[in-house]
Amino acid sequence: MLSNFSLKNPLYLIVLSIVIGGVLTALLYGTLKLEAKVEAKMFEISTSDVFQIVQNSAQSIAHLLKESENYIADIQQNPLLQQEIEEHISLLPTKNIKYVYLLYKDQRGTFRFLADAAPSPEKALLNQKLDVASPTWNSIYEKKEPLLIKHDFLKELSISYLVPLLYKGEVQLVLVIDFSIEKVENINTIIAFMKMTILATIGIIILFFIILVAQTLRYIIAKKTAYIDKLTNTYNRNYLQELQEFINLDDYALATLDIDYFKKVNDTYGHHAGDMVLKEVAAIILANTRKKEDIVIRYGGEEFVILSKIKRNDNMAPLNIIERIFTSIQAHPFHIPDSEHINITVSIGVNLTPNKSRTFSDAFKLADIALYNAKHKGRNSIEIYEENESNLKHSHLSISEINGAIEEGRVVCFFQQIVDTQTKKISHYEALLRIIHKDGSIITPSKILPAIKGTFVLRNITKRVLEICHTTLLQYPTIRINVNLNPQDIINDTILTLLKDYASQENIANRIGLEIVESENIIHLNHAKENLLMLKKLGYTIFIDDFGTGYSNFVYLTQIQTDFIKIDGDIIKKIVEDKVSLAVVKSIVNFAQEANIDVVAEYVCNEEIYTIIKSLGIKYSQGYYFSIPRSLPS
Ligand code: GH3
Ligand code: MG
Ligand code: MG
Repeated sequence: MLSNFSLKNPLYLIVLSIVIGGVLTALLYGTLKLEAKVEAKMFEISTSDVFQIVQNSAQSIAHLLKESENYIADIQQNPLLQQEIEEHISLLPTKNIKYVYLLYKDQRGTFRFLADAAPSPEKALLNQKLDVASPTWNSIYEKKEPLLIKHDFLKELSISYLVPLLYKGEVQLVLVIDFSIEKVENINTIIAFMKMTILATIGIIILFFIILVAQTLRYIIAKKTAYIDKLTNTYNRNYLQELQEFINLDDYALATLDIDYFKKVNDTYGHHAGDMVLKEVAAIILANTRKKEDIVIRYGGEEFVILSKIKRNDNMAPLNIIERIFTSIQAHPFHIPDSEHINITVSIGVNLTPNKSRTFSDAFKLADIALYNAKHKGRNSIEIYEENESNLKHSHLSISEINGAIEEGRVVCFFQQIVDTQTKKISHYEALLRIIHKDGSIITPSKILPAIKGTFVLRNITKRVLEICHTTLLQYPTIRINVNLNPQDIINDTILTLLKDYASQENIANRIGLEIVESENIIHLNHAKENLLMLKKLGYTIFIDDFGTGYSNFVYLTQIQTDFIKIDGDIIKKIVEDKVSLAVVKSIVNFAQEANIDVVAEYVCNEEIYTIIKSLGIKYSQGYYFSIPRSLPS
C-alpha cells in the first residue's frame, strides 16, 4: 500500500500521451496530404506542355481533313492521307508519351484504330479494335472536350489524354495519347518511411496509453483504500494529510468532534462494543452531512473532523449540520450486544472562519481549542471558537506540543513562597508547572492542562514535576516544596512508585507537601483514600487545595487526615468586600482549629487582605503580596 503512495498521479501522463498522439496523428494526416500534393504537382509539371502539344496536333489533323465530308471514310479509303496522319502523330512519342493513336467509333460503338504512331511490330492495323478499360471513354462524345483518364499504378503515374476532333459540332475522331511517368522514387521512399515511423510511434503511444489507463485505475483504487478508514468508512488520517495541501480554507467551516467518556464505553462493554459505537457515530455523522460538499475524517481513535462547505449567502449551513449531528447522536440509542442500548454524547469544537488562519493546521488548532473548551465546561456541548485576547496571545498547547516540551526539557517549575502569616518568613514553596514555549514565552497550566486532562501525558507531566522538585530538594537541603497532584495521579502506579522511591531516601518525603484539589474523586476513586493515607505514613504532608469552592465536605477532610487546607483564592480575594466570603473563611478556620488542621490562604495580593488574614489567625499565606512565582536561583 505504501509503495502505491509514492506512485505519482499518472493522470498528467495520460493527458501528455493524448497530446502527443494528437500531434502525431496530425503529422500523419499532413504527410498523407503532402503525398497527394507532391503527386499533383508532379502531374502538373509533367503534363502541362504535353496537353498543349496534343491539342495542337489534333488541330493539325483536323486541318488535313478540312475538305472532307466524312473523316472516317476519308482516312479509311485514302492510304496516303492515313500515312500522312501517322507521320504527323509519330512525331509526338517521347520517353513519357508511350502511345499516340487516332480512334473512331463504329456503328456498334466499338473503338477502332485509324492511325497509330507506334513503330512497326506494335503498330495497330487500320480498323483494329481497341478494348477500352473504362466506359468513361465514351463520355467524350457527349462532352466534346478533351478528356483526362487516370490509371492508378503503384510505381507509375499513368494517364490517357483524349482530344476530340469535331465536324459540324459532332465528335468524329478521338486523338489519344497514353502518358506515363515514374514517380520520383526518392520522395516516395521518404514519405513511406515517414508514414511508417509515425504509424509506429502512434502504435507505441496507444500501447503506452493503455498501460497508463490501467496504472491510473490501479492508482485510484489504491488511493481510495489507503484513504478510507475501514471501521467507520470515513476518510482517515492519510487523507487529512493529503487534504491539507489542496484544501481552500475559504470554502469550509471546520469542526472537531470527540466522543465524551468513550473510555468508559470500552471499559464497561468491551472494545468490540466500543467499535460498534464508533461505527454508528460515524454513520450518524455521514448521514447528516452532504455527500458532495462535506468531508468527514476520523483523525484519531474517537475523534472526527468535519469540513462543511460554506455556501455564499448561507453561513448558517455548516452550523446547522453540526447541530444536527450533535442532536442526532444525543437522541440515538446505541445498541450494545447482550445489553440494553446506551446513550452517547459528543463534544464539538467549531471554527467557522478557517480562512482567518494561515494554514490548515492553524485552523484545525482553533477548532481543537473550542473542543477542549467544550470538554472543560462539562462536555456534551458545541463550542464555537471565538477570538479573544488570551486565545490570541497564546492558544492552548496541543498534546504533541506538550510531548515535545517534555522531551526537550522545556517543562519547568516556578516556585511561589508560602509564608508564615505572622513573621512573613518562608515556610514552604509551591511548585507551579510552566512550559517554556519554543518562542521563549512562558505557558501557564490553564493553557496546558485542558488538552491533557485524563491522558497519560498528564501523568508524564506530574512525573516530570516531581523529578524537578526532587532535584531542587537535593540542591536546597532546608526548603520544603509542595507539588500539585491530580486525584488520578494518586491512583497511578508510576507516580506511586516514584513517591515510594523518594520516601526511601533520607530527608525527602518529610519536605514534600502533596497538594490535592478538593474533589469527590478522592473519595470515590478506588484506593485513592487508602493511597493518601499510605503516602502520609511514608512522611508526605497532605494539603487539600482550592478548598471552599467545590465540594467542601468537612467530613472527608477528617477521613483522609489532611494536614493542611488551602482556602481557594477566589474566596480570599473577595473577603474585603464580600461578607459571605468572609463568613465562609471564618467557618473554615474554626473547623480547622477544631480538627487540628493548618490553614493556608491563597491569593493574598494586597495589604488589606493580608491584614484580615492575619487577624483571622490563618497561619500561612501565599500570594503576590509576598512574592510572585519564579525559578529558584541555581
Ligand atoms: P473525553 O470525554 O475527555 O473525551 O473522555 P474519553 O473517555 O473519551 O477520553 P479520551 O478521548 O482520552 O479517550 C479515548 C479513548 O478511545 C481511548 C481509547 O481506549 C479509545 N479508543 C481509541 N480508538 C479506539 C478504537 O478504534 N476502538 C475502540 N473501541 N476504542 C478506541
Ligand atoms: Mg479523545
Ligand atoms: Mg473522548
